[in-house]
Amino acid sequence: MRGPKAYKNFIKGEWVKSRTNKTFEDINPANTDDVVGIFQQSDQRDVNDALNAAAEAYKKWRLVPAPKRGEILYRVAQRIVKDKERLSRDMTREMGKVLVETRGDVQEAIDMTFYMAGEGRRQFGQTIPSELPEKYAMTMRQPLGVCVMITPWNFPMAIPSWKMMPALIMGNTVVVKPATDTPLSVFNLVQIMHEEGIPAGVVNMVTGSGGAVGMPLINDKRVGCISFTGSTEIGRKISEACAPEFKHCHLEMGGKNCIMIMDDANIDLAVDGALWGAFGTTGQRCTASSRIIIHKKVYNKFAAKFVERVKSLKVGDGLDPSIQMGPAVSESQMNSVLDYMRIGKEEDGAKLLCGGGRFTGGKYNKGWFTMPTVFGDVRPGMRIFHEEIFGSVTDLIPAKDYDEAIELANNCAYGLSASIYTQDINLAFRAMRDVYTGIFYVNAPTIGAETHLPFGGTKHTGNGHREACVQALEVFSEWKSVYVDFSGTIQRAQIDNI
Ligand code: NAP
Repeated sequence: MRGPKAYKNFIKGEWVKSRTNKTFEDINPANTDDVVGIFQQSDQRDVNDALNAAAEAYKKWRLVPAPKRGEILYRVAQRIVKDKERLSRDMTREMGKVLVETRGDVQEAIDMTFYMAGEGRRQFGQTIPSELPEKYAMTMRQPLGVCVMITPWNFPMAIPSWKMMPALIMGNTVVVKPATDTPLSVFNLVQIMHEEGIPAGVVNMVTGSGGAVGMPLINDKRVGCISFTGSTEIGRKISEACAPEFKHCHLEMGGKNCIMIMDDANIDLAVDGALWGAFGTTGQRCTASSRIIIHKKVYNKFAAKFVERVKSLKVGDGLDPSIQMGPAVSESQMNSVLDYMRIGKEEDGAKLLCGGGRFTGGKYNKGWFTMPTVFGDVRPGMRIFHEEIFGSVTDLIPAKDYDEAIELANNCAYGLSASIYTQDINLAFRAMRDVYTGIFYVNAPTIGAETHLPFGGTKHTGNGHREACVQALEVFSEWKSVYVDFSGTIQRAQIDNI
């Protein structure tokens, strides 16, 4: 019988083994007998090779006209469209989320790639009148050089594409380190990029652990920018590592997002939204609706309907089209979620309304399946109110009125996404203004970002940058101001213009 396929690193346009000669397994979280692939367990030596390749390729790639770079990305996007089903199935197998969602993940990569291909013809600067005669002033963007991307497992193709496509269109070269749990989706993306004409060395992929591959990448002086998505804990370490050299550092981190349901809300719509927001991707989204703040007049009505729907969710292998929620991505992720379920049960005053453990028996024994879980009467001060769980757990939090709902919403270390359900247009606009997050929805849950709007968060979610849209170009380039004096004389700014 043939064993699982072995995959290599991608350096300087070649598929190469790690210098360590060590590998790791990519395991299907819905069926741990299924080894999805064998990947390279790389170290500093492979990092060095990849950075050499990226630094060398940068010399030519930065000079390729941006519209030409865009044409290559356009071909990449068309190819992802063609291969969408295969890529989605591979992703469900390695990551666990249901097929409709992995198709959405791949679609995000398509959208982002087409969007950034178009930016090849739109890297606008400004022309600005000089204060001196016979002098011309303008602004232009310049790339940063080698950009490093460190990506998480929950959006294994979308997030790498959010980083790689804007970096490439700006003329940077790339080294990407995928999450250890989901290297195949990045492999698939990089393979397509290679086959569709990205030149050797422009995109490089090194698989392996955060410590052995991530840190050497971050600490290398040749790197112009680090773009990281993952936990706030690792993001802080990366920020500290970048500080001594003032290295550009773009961080997208944790969330504890809330839906606010007002007393005039369409409750059935809110139940649908909360179900999707809390348990889509098994709750493993940075934008997951993990706090549901409900006006006390409709608290009981919402809770009864919501819990009934949560109990009916079908959990299992995401490749089965009847399944609505897949497994946790790994055993350690499942154990962390189970820990929070235990903590929730022990919180003084919180009530377990459904779920609260893992599924066992039959096919469940082969995977990491946690129950969709709801805690009621959650209040500030409880750990499940404040801490990101990143799994199939959500909180119901009563609020006496709009003002208290806003106070509860903003009582959070993170600031990624929030939403309000109300029929009152005035309240909707007030909430848009009053909640301090990077993303806000009205009459929709906290998930559902589109690639042509900026994505990112405030407080401990981010460090002031935004991903996607034209804002992503700011991450991967710097402005240069250019003055052209055609007077033939010396003209001194602030002096000769008087
Ligand atoms: P994580 O543990 O922080 O890992 C993210 C990436 O960092 C992985 O590639 C990981 O490699 C790598 N890494 C780990 N330790 C490192 C180190 N010391 N130095 C350099 N790299 C290191 O996060 P995760 O568990 O994959 O993802 C979940 C978190 O991501 C949640 O907090 C979620 O909210 C956040 N997230 C945020 C957004 C957003 O846009 N705001 C989007 C998605 C997810 P290994 O896989 O090898 O450990």
